[in-house]
Amino acid sequence: MVRAVDGVDITANRAETVCVVGESGCGKTVTAKTVLKLIDMPPGRIVAGEIRFEGRDLVPLPPAEMRKIRAKQIGFVFQEPMTSLNPVYTVGQQIAETVRQHEGLSRRAALDRAAEMLRLVNIPNPQRRVQDYPHQFSGGMRQRVMIAMALSCNPKLLIADEPTTALDVTIQAQILDLLDEMKQRLGMAVLLITHAMGVVAEVAQRVVVMYAGKVVEEATVEALFATPRHPYTQGLIRSIPRIDRAASVHARLEAIPGTVPSLLNPPVGCRFAARCRHAMPDCVAAEPPLREVAPGHKVACILYPEHRP
Ligand code: SF4
Repeated sequence: MVRAVDGVDITANRAETVCVVGESGCGKTVTAKTVLKLIDMPPGRIVAGEIRFEGRDLVPLPPAEMRKIRAKQIGFVFQEPMTSLNPVYTVGQQIAETVRQHEGLSRRAALDRAAEMLRLVNIPNPQRRVQDYPHQFSGGMRQRVMIAMALSCNPKLLIADEPTTALDVTIQAQILDLLDEMKQRLGMAVLLITHAMGVVAEVAQRVVVMYAGKVVEEATVEALFATPRHPYTQGLIRSIPRIDRAASVHARLEAIPGTVPSLLNPPVGCRFAARCRHAMPDCVAAEPPLREVAPGHKVACILYPEHRP
């Protein structure tokens, strides 16, 4: 059995953006899909734990009940909008259908809501564009449509999985600004999954760093960038391009050597040990737990006194 995500504990509060960051294969997307109960079951399954939403555990809920919560209370946006939009229906029909299903509006009222949502995400001529098909929008505009659809029922939580990865840099910035604006306006919590530390720095209030299916560090965005504690987080931050360093001819971006271990047979002890420049024999003796090393700042690494007996 592969434990793709193990012991992950994430809280997102109202009007807060929590970023989950890490390399490909670290369990970020599985975490997002688990919250939505969208992991492929079988073979995927939630073995243990709770998904608490507004005080209610979602794990035991039957699929029909869960469908009502998705979209109506938890919106989601994935990386590639073309895989989520149906090419044979207009975007207006698709947004209207979501609204009709969850709010019981008439067809006319639902189409009006669809146009209102397109206007909210800054798509010009919304009354006309509701009649367009997904292929008639650019990549950035399609992602706006997805955000409009995700927000159409006023969710309390928005989960966005790499929403800007497929877009070019200027459009990325617009989409991130839009998400931030929507969060402030609607007061929802945002769980943003990303591999890009630049995105984290721009939008997060709190950051959860994942490595090989585990949380290795959690902190406010200020604390994480000012004093990253886990060697993996330190490596991620060193790998961000910086304008001041680019001025030097010797400037090289640092990479973290090695690759994420296979979760089919995860290593004993700290999962980062094979790539860690500070590794010592005790690191592979037992897995370091996530412990608070400063108020609100948790880390799973034995370099810190809180981890010593
Ligand atoms: Fe490195 Fe050891 Fe800390 Fe793991 S526990 S990150 S191997 S120092």
